[in-house]
Amino acid sequence: MYIKHADYNLSLKDLNTFAVNVTAKKIIFVSTISLLINIWHKCKTSKVPFIILGEGSNILFLENYLGIVVINRIKGINITEKNNFWYLHVNSGEIWHDLVQYTLKIGLFGLENLAYIPGCVGSAAIQNIGAYGLEIKNVCNYVDIISLNNASIQRINLQQCNFSYRNSIFQTKYNYGYAVLSVGIKLSKIWKPIIFHSFFKNINLIQINPYKIFNTIYNIRKKKYLILRK
Ligand SMILES: Cc1cc2nc3c(=O)[nH]c(=O)nc-3n(C[C@H](O)[C@H](O)[C@H](O)COP(=O)(O)OP(=O)(O)OC[C@H]3O[C@@H](n4cnc5c(N)ncnc54)[C@H](O)[C@@H]3O)c2cc1C
Repeated sequence: MYIKHADYNLSLKDLNTFAVNVTAKKIIFVSTISLLINIWHKCKTSKVPFIILGEGSNILFLENYLGIVVINRIKGINITEKNNFWYLHVNSGEIWHDLVQYTLKIGLFGLENLAYIPGCVGSAAIQNIGAYGLEIKNVCNYVDIISLNNASIQRINLQQCNFSYRNSIFQTKYNYGYAVLSVGIKLSKIWKPIIFHSFFKNINLIQINPYKIFNTIYNIRKKKYLILRK
């Protein structure tokens, strides 16, 4: 078990993209399910507010948070190969962009359009992230969630996720009292470039390949969001 209390006077400044300098009662980095559940129950018993964050890139703090902020770092990637697909089981605390980079590095293609979107894998499913013609719903196989109250884990299949534009069932039915634990991703072994988005009109598509798409998107985004990752 690994607990790291933040070293910055409980400031959330470095833990949200807008770098809003607010504080929390406590900030706890969590890398195990048992710790997550433990904190939830303590908060519930003592009536202290609880929030789970990934990279804090889709949240705007307007004032100090009078509760416990859990920073999800439950990590791990498991890959299996079957017939025409690669199946990835990715824990929710993995950094989304690192996952995209990793898949390309090992020769698995299909996530390149979603390069350099800030945030964690769990939040990516919650928000149904999307860019340049691809959304996570196009590659998602299932999402595993946990009920924080009774620790039961449930697999939500693609249809049940109710994905729509930047939305999913994890923002409604499975919101408070649940956490996203892992995301199942299915990547075809037969790569087809997704280049219908207007963005690609100005790109040289000769000898297009996943790395070229990744690099083009990465470089453009990097210029825009230089401030995000040093
Ligand atoms: C510069 C910039 C560019 C962006 N570009 C894009 C883009 O191109 N496309 C796009 O779709 N989005 C984009 N976004 C939005 C953002 O990247 C996504 O919404 C991302 O998924 C947020 O991830 P996060 O881990 O930072 O979420 P956080 O901000 O940490 O959390 C977001 C919400 O999810 C909840 N949550 C987080 N993890 C869990 C969990 N495991 N279980 C339950 N609840 C959880 C939090 O409580 C919070 O309510 C951009 C954001 C920024 C700042």
